[in-house]
Amino acid sequence: MSVSLGFPQIRSAGPAPSGAPRQAGLVDRHGRRATDMRLSVIDKCNLRCTYCMPADGLPWLPAAQLMSADEIVRLVGVGVRELGIAELRLTGGEPLVRRDLEEIVAGVRAAHPELPLSLTTNGIGLAARAQALAEAGLTRVNISLDSLCAETFKLLARRDRLADVLAGAEAAAAAGLAPVKINAVLMRGVNDHEAPELLAWALERGFALRFIEQMPLDADHGWTRADMVTAAEIRDRLGTRFRLSPHPGRRDGAPAELWDVRPAADGPAAPADAEDAPLGTVGVIASVTEPFCADCKRTRITAEGRIRSCLFSHEEFDLLPLLRAGATDAELADRWRAAMWLKPAAHGMDHVGLDSADYVQPERSMSAIGG
Ligand code: SAM
Ligand code: SF4
Repeated sequence: MSVSLGFPQIRSAGPAPSGAPRQAGLVDRHGRRATDMRLSVIDKCNLRCTYCMPADGLPWLPAAQLMSADEIVRLVGVGVRELGIAELRLTGGEPLVRRDLEEIVAGVRAAHPELPLSLTTNGIGLAARAQALAEAGLTRVNISLDSLCAETFKLLARRDRLADVLAGAEAAAAAGLAPVKINAVLMRGVNDHEAPELLAWALERGFALRFIEQMPLDADHGWTRADMVTAAEIRDRLGTRFRLSPHPGRRDGAPAELWDVRPAADGPAAPADAEDAPLGTVGVIASVTEPFCADCKRTRITAEGRIRSCLFSHEEFDLLPLLRAGATDAELADRWRAAMWLKPAAHGMDHVGLDSADYVQPERSMSAIGG
């Protein structure tokens, strides 16, 4: 299997590509409409997860290139007022590394009282800030946690910080940042055996666990299809302790396929009544083996204010220089629409390692894009 490296083409200015609508929301050539915004507030991170970052980190963006709190609030406003953005997730890098995260949240909340506003975080430092973030207007959090074993956590994140993450998750729940969602990536031979234990832990606390298939977006380019734990394997592993059945209700463009969870019929905690209510749900995000590109609703902004229409884009569109040069909201919206019009139909990852299809890994790794 070979995954080659693609360098993003940065488009700084220029007219909208032909066919791009001038008035509608963020629609693309393939009939999708983006309403879900992922905005990275910083590229820097305090962990070094093996599937994301190199051991030595990456060259971080200079502070002057990062969007300021006011600039972030302005761009969110353009998205919501002009382009139909209906929900916002702040991410990174590690968003809690930004000291002004509460200010960013409060600014967005003041301008958009009803906007669902969540945060994806590794949880380090969250114990001390969850209450302030909730008071600033954060709706809920997604916390990444791949192992409940301190040694394995250290192996995966290259830092000995499991206790901080667990404290962060408890504090988020106490602050009402609910539902607390937990993201886990399984690595073969490292933490894949922990899938049922992670689910039991999450269910006991009322947290919503989602497993994410490892994607070829690591800075080390070490991803291999053979090592990736597939969604089917994840479900099989969970099946050793739990019984999964499709969760009723519409998926509605959500990346996670949801499953109702009950104790396995022959497991130790099997109920007398097999029709018992589910213990909760679990999500599986099968980006590689069961892609959901056709229903994608996401638009992404990097920490330096570039639009990426897709995680796997090879093209980025500068928005921040335009904003700093005094562009109006309408001009910023035009540029954003033009970028999204070119969103690729699909990522092609589902073919990697199966045939010779030409999946080209984006130059940026997950942390630098804003996962
Ligand atoms: N630092 C924060 C965190 O870890 O939650 C936010 C940024 S991180 C890039 C967002 C999510 O991307 C995390 O849940 C992480 O596990 C996931 N992620 C990172 N690299 C990945 C990869 N190669 N494949 C799948 N998920 C990945
Ligand atoms: Fe940092 Fe999140 Fe990447 Fe881990 S997954 S290195 S916490 S950005």
